Amino acid sequence: TQSYDVVILGGGAAGIATAASLLKRRSDLTIAIVEPSGDHYYQPGWTLVGGGVFSQEQTRRSEVTLIPKEANWIREAVVSFAPESNGVTLSNGAKLHYRALVVALGIKLDWAAIPGLAETLGKNGVTSNYRYDLAPYTWKLVQELQHGTAIFTQPPMPIKCAGAPQKAVYLSCDAWRRRGVDKDIAVEFDVAGPSLFGVAAFVPALMNYIRRYKVDLELKSKLVAVDGPKGIATFERVREGGTETVERKFEMLHVVPPQVAPDVVRESKLAGKDGFVTVDPATLRHVTYDNIFALGDVAGTSNAKTAAAARKQAPVVAHNVVATLAHRAPNAEYDGYGGCPLTVERGKIVLAEFGYGGKLMPSLPKWLLNGEKPTRLAWFLKEKVMPALYWYAMLKGREIMVKPKYKTGG
Ligand code: FAD
Repeated sequence: TQSYDVVILGGGAAGIATAASLLKRRSDLTIAIVEPSGDHYYQPGWTLVGGGVFSQEQTRRSEVTLIPKEANWIREAVVSFAPESNGVTLSNGAKLHYRALVVALGIKLDWAAIPGLAETLGKNGVTSNYRYDLAPYTWKLVQELQHGTAIFTQPPMPIKCAGAPQKAVYLSCDAWRRRGVDKDIAVEFDVAGPSLFGVAAFVPALMNYIRRYKVDLELKSKLVAVDGPKGIATFERVREGGTETVERKFEMLHVVPPQVAPDVVRESKLAGKDGFVTVDPATLRHVTYDNIFALGDVAGTSNAKTAAAARKQAPVVAHNVVATLAHRAPNAEYDGYGGCPLTVERGKIVLAEFGYGGKLMPSLPKWLLNGEKPTRLAWFLKEKVMPALYWYAMLKGREIMVKPKYKTGG
């Protein structure tokens, strides 16, 4: 058994940011990062890969270049938790002992939940921006489609980046408009939930684009099966008379898969009923185990599951882990901030930023950037500023505009 001050599970957005923030606070800590993948992905960029703006390679970097030098990278997967004895077991059978544990394992894309989907992904016109290898296929399909029906789907919540399914709709429609084939392509957007977007303030601007692109918006319509070779998607739609099963023929199908907590978490004592790690929404500390924290998509909190959220959460967790190791109360608090830049057309974005309970939390003053309206500035931020902020600030522990609130008396 190897022993560390802090074991971080997952070397994604949240895990790397937390490691860097911890080392900024206490460079003497012994830290292990458990991450099986040799590559790290900037997933927010995949929307722009599917929209023909970014290349696939722009969204990938090797983990070795991102894991802080002072931390130990353990290239295995975690397979079980023993929170009572402060240990985790890895895929090679090794056990790690920790003084504090940070769970940052992300969310599981449940492709298998839709019969017929997995085997047709990447062919027969079926694609998804939710996978690195498939996002370029989205753009290829968009460029090649001349006429017919294009269907886009959004599964039930929770999903990471709840706006990403409709970003794919708008960027595709915009490309078809520019090419002059929009009148020959019928676009349908099937949303499992009851509304286009969870925070009402942003819906009017988005509905303008639904109308402009003449998208057939079907709410409470859930994808339940795909037949790739026949080009048929099956939906369950909640309608006046009850639930209807509808078969729709498509030439292109962009699927966002249902998403669940990672198996290893769901089956552990760390999970709540929903399968995610039950943490205090402010301190991000586990409700039962005082030396366990969770952040990013795996946290059972009600914020929008976004890299933007992880950016704000990492300093909170880092501060509270350091406090816990020093036997002080965790007094840094996360406000639920999350951000979702909705790419409504090439060159314009509706920048939804909000915290717990849907409270609007714009980063910039409204006169400079009104997030409820499509703006060019927001597109500039998404294309040029946010990737740089991610690689060179967030993942390096440079905490720009993310200072946590501290509960007084802590
Ligand atoms: P991840 O970054 O997914 O990292 C999880 C890590 O855990 C991975 O490296 C994985 O390999 C590792 N792991 C998994 N299982 C194990 C195991 N058993 N043991 C050890 N390690 C394991 N966010 C935004 O802020 N803005 C956007 O515009 C935006 N757009 C998006 C568009 C798309 C198409 C997608 C897919 C996501 C988007 N997001 C966006 C969401 C954002 O990418 C995620 O919220 C963010 O990556 C969450 O970070 P995380 O560290 O929790 O998870």
